[in-house]
Parts: sequence; structure tokens; C-alpha cells
Amino acid sequence: MSDATRSERPLRLAVIGIGKIARDQHLPAIAANPRFTLVAAVSRHATVDGLPNYHDIDDLLAADHALDAVSICTPPVGRASIAMAAIDAGLHVMLEKPPAATLSEIARIDTHASAAGRTLFTTWHSREAAGVAAARSWLADRKVLRMTIDWREDIRRWHPGQDWILDAGGFGVFDPGINALSIATRILPGAWTVDAADLHVPGGRMSPLVADLTMACGDIPVTAGFDFLRQGPQQWDIVVETDAGLLKLREGGSVLEIDGVVTRGADAEYPGLYAAFERLVRSGTSDVDVTPLRLVADAFLLARRHEMPAFSW
Ligand code: NAP
Repeated sequence: MSDATRSERPLRLAVIGIGKIARDQHLPAIAANPRFTLVAAVSRHATVDGLPNYHDIDDLLAADHALDAVSICTPPVGRASIAMAAIDAGLHVMLEKPPAATLSEIARIDTHASAAGRTLFTTWHSREAAGVAAARSWLADRKVLRMTIDWREDIRRWHPGQDWILDAGGFGVFDPGINALSIATRILPGAWTVDAADLHVPGGRMSPLVADLTMACGDIPVTAGFDFLRQGPQQWDIVVETDAGLLKLREGGSVLEIDGVVTRGADAEYPGLYAAFERLVRSGTSDVDVTPLRLVADAFLLARRHEMPAFSW
């Protein structure tokens, strides 16, 4: 690793895990940001045209690319060992959501990064959605009475063939659902708890396709419905009732509606994440927030499990 991260030259970056999100969002966001130079890609099967490609992190680290950082976009299971190897090599690490498969793993990565003096960034892309910051500041001055989350999408449309999502450690419907929790815990800071969870797991699979949670933020009741089998209109909504009117974040946080007045912002989630990562690296700091992951873990701990019919693509 080259230790020029506090200078002004672009950060030399490798992306690990070339799948849907790497291609849809990470590669374009990096290409558009002159503060980064993408120097390599790592994936067991996929490749990125025009770059040196490596099968795994060990092969990457054996080559001399004078790297500063890696951005890890693999599924959550297996992420920890990749992150640890990168930190051992002196690299700064940016993690796609969820940051790891378990709370213990992310705690270990965090401790390791701190001890090595490397930046660790647990990203939550939905927090960068256009309406989130404005929602948080509007709510800060109001008494919140309740929150309702509806996160309902069609797994076959958005994640075709991604069997890992329904494996152990794949998060099931919490793969998208954790995005809602990342927004909810950003716009309503406080002490969050899960009070009850019903998880519906298809026969022969390990992770739920449907989940209903009863939560609280302090004394504010929060209910959440997550459904991975939604046909027809897709729904990524958070509704907050306050003593001074109704706030709705729709379309994954990109549309903000307050008492019927709608504001729609441009999508800049991943450019925002890379700008934040650069700031963290340059300032020698980390941003590690596991709150959404902790709520999902609590849901799995408390869950009443229900078997539902087998799922096939
Ligand atoms: P994906 O399409 O399955 O891509 C992940 C890729 O990681 C796989 O194609 C695989 O490619 C690679 N991979 C797996 N294990 C690896 C390893 N040990 N080393 C290197 N590469 C490895 O999944 P995805 O949808 O991009 O999701 C990845 C992560 O991004 C998940 O945590 C997800 O929650 C998050 N995310 C996804 C979306 C979305 O809309 N899909 C949105 C935001 C965030 P090879 O077979 O080539 O190794």
C-alpha cells in the first residue's frame, strides 16, 4: 500500500465482487469521481474490461498496484475475511451494506481497522437518498407519534437468480429491508429496539421472504412490513406521524412528502458514498454504524418462524 492517502492525489482503489451492484452503481460512481483511480477488479468469475482482474484478494495483494483502498461488494457471507486481509495489507476499506454477516464479524473488522490506523466505512446507501437529510431535520423539531415502514418488492424482478439471498447469512427479505432500517434509524435517532418479529421462510430455504416487525425508538412505536413477493406496484415507503403533520418518504427515500407537498431529488446515493469515503480516508477517520444490522440480528433472535411454500425463480 502506498501511504499518500493524506496527499491530494487520487486514491488508488480496487473493487471486490463484480456483480449487480458493482456494475450498476460502484463502477459508474468511481468513474465519475476524479478523486479515485480504479486500478483493479477482483471476482471469481466476472471481469471488468480494461482493468487487471484477479480471482481473489490474495491474488490482488500479490500484485503491486500501490493500492490505497478497496471497496467490497460481495455478498455478506465471506466479506469479513476479505476485509481483514485488506486491512492486514494496510488498505482502507469501504463495505457495501450490510457490513458483514454478523455483528461479531463487523466488531472484529472494526477493532482490526482501528488498531491498524486504517479507515473503515460501513456504507448505507439508502441514507444518501435525496429526501433523507431533509426528513431528518424536519423531524428533529417535531414530536413523533409513530412510524410505519412498508418495504415490498419482487425478488424475481430485482434479484433474479441470487440464491445466496435465501441461504443462511443471506438476510432474505432483510437484504432490501435493512435499507429501510438504515433510513429509519437515520431520520429518527434514538434507542431502537425490536419487540416482536414474525419471519416467513420458504420450505427448503434458510432466510425469510416475508417479515413483520414490531419495534420502538424510545417510546415511539414503529411497525415494519417487509415482503419479497410483491407483484404489481413496488413499495419502499416510510410514513411518520407527528404532532405537526404527516411525513412520507417514498420510493426508497428519494421522494419526500410533507403534508401533501412533494419534493423529488436526483439519485446521487453512490456518488455521495464515494465522496464520504474520500473525506474519511483523507481525514484519517472511520464511520462504522451497525444499528440497522443490530435490529436485523435482534429480529432473527426473537423471531417466531413460520414455514411458507417453497420458492423457485
Ligand atoms: P451479486 O449480483 O450476486 O454480486 C456479488 C458478486 O460478488 C457475485 O457476482 C460474485 O461474483 C462476487 N463474489 C462472491 N464471493 C466473492 C469472493 N469471495 N471474492 C470475490 N468476489 C466474490 O450481488 P449484488 O446484488 O451485487 O449484491 C452484493 C452486495 O451489494 C450485497 O450485500 C447487497 O446487499 C448489496 N447491494 C445490492 C443491491 C442490488 O440492487 N443488487 C443494492 C445495494 C446493495 P463472482 O462469481 O465473479 O465471484
